[in-house]
Amino acid sequence: MSTIEEQETRSCVSCGLNIAGTNAAAFKCPDCGQQIYRCAKCRKQSNLYECPDCGFTGP
Ligand SMILES: [Zn+2]
Ligand SMILES: [Zn+2]
Repeated sequence: MSTIEEQETRSCVSCGLNIAGTNAAAFKCPDCGQQIYRCAKCRKQSNLYECPDCGFTGP
């Protein structure tokens, strides 16, 4: 028996919080197109995000 399940990890790039089921913002890195998630809290605080793929940082 094997379970093939693609599990998407959705965690805030700023604080690392698991944002599954929350109204987090999802957007793509303007530099490389990597999907980035940011939780509502960090969004409110306008924390900087850093792309896990290319290291791009932005507001
Ligand atoms: Zn966060
Ligand atoms: Zn990127």
